[in-house]
Amino acid sequence: VITILARTGPDRHRGMSLILVPNTTEGVDIRKLNTIVRRSLGTTEIFLTDAKVPEGNIIGGPGEGWALINGHLEWERLSLAASYVGNARTALDDTISYTKGRTQFGKPLSSFQVLKHRMAENECEVEAASLLVYNAATKMARGERAVKEVSMAKVYAADVAFKVSFNGMQALGGYAQLPEYDMERYFREAKHAMVGGGASEIQRSIIAKEMGI
Ligand SMILES: Cc1cc2nc3c(=O)[nH]c(=O)nc-3n(C[C@H](O)[C@H](O)[C@H](O)COP(=O)(O)OP(=O)(O)OC[C@H]3O[C@@H](n4cnc5c(N)ncnc54)[C@H](O)[C@@H]3O)c2cc1C
Repeated sequence: VITILARTGPDRHRGMSLILVPNTTEGVDIRKLNTIVRRSLGTTEIFLTDAKVPEGNIIGGPGEGWALINGHLEWERLSLAASYVGNARTALDDTISYTKGRTQFGKPLSSFQVLKHRMAENECEVEAASLLVYNAATKMARGERAVKEVSMAKVYAADVAFKVSFNGMQALGGYAQLPEYDMERYFREAKHAMVGGGASEIQRSIIAKEMGI
């Protein structure tokens, strides 16, 4: 089933409705896209040609779409931020174990100070991203407004996932370029983190608005 947020009226917010459309509805054409991210999940483009569904398929009633989506956006961004922390943590763990196991110039890569410091800095950043996620989650669990905290967690965790996997790509050298190693996937997914669920620029604009600037 597809959930569509459709414009059903002229009003900016009250003119949107959420409609459930079964995939098998006549006039619905779903085509899988060959993305470089989220390949396990799959991303599709959807074409609608005179597709019709019963009025009962409007979730919450006509014009309720924005209100319903808006409440959901924070949960989506929070869960995405948590998954970015997971991506960053795994990328860093893989970097640590690879650099401990790889010997160059007679020593493990992990003993070179430049790599050690980079991993130490990343450790701080992953922990900080994780705490931002817990902070936003705690506020939401208490039923408090957490618009700023959720956007802060998402934008920062995305940046950290990108930085850690970028460093991981460098630390793994030539092997990082092979799909046999997971690092290139962490790197691709981290790039998507800066766009999916609301781009990082939009998150920063939300944070600034919440700051009153
Ligand atoms: C793999 C994948 C899966 C997706 N899955 C879904 C899904 O399941 N459901 C769904 O609804 N959407 C989905 N999306 C869409 C996703 O949410 C959008 O791609 C994302 O919100 C960015 O919108 P856009 O692509 O239209 O980029 P644009 O809005 O065109 O933005 C392009 C660039 O311009 C910047 N920009 C745009 N406006 C501003 C502004 N006002 N100020 C500053 N910078 C700005 C953006 O930050 C970005 O860097 C998916 C996208 C991808 C790639």
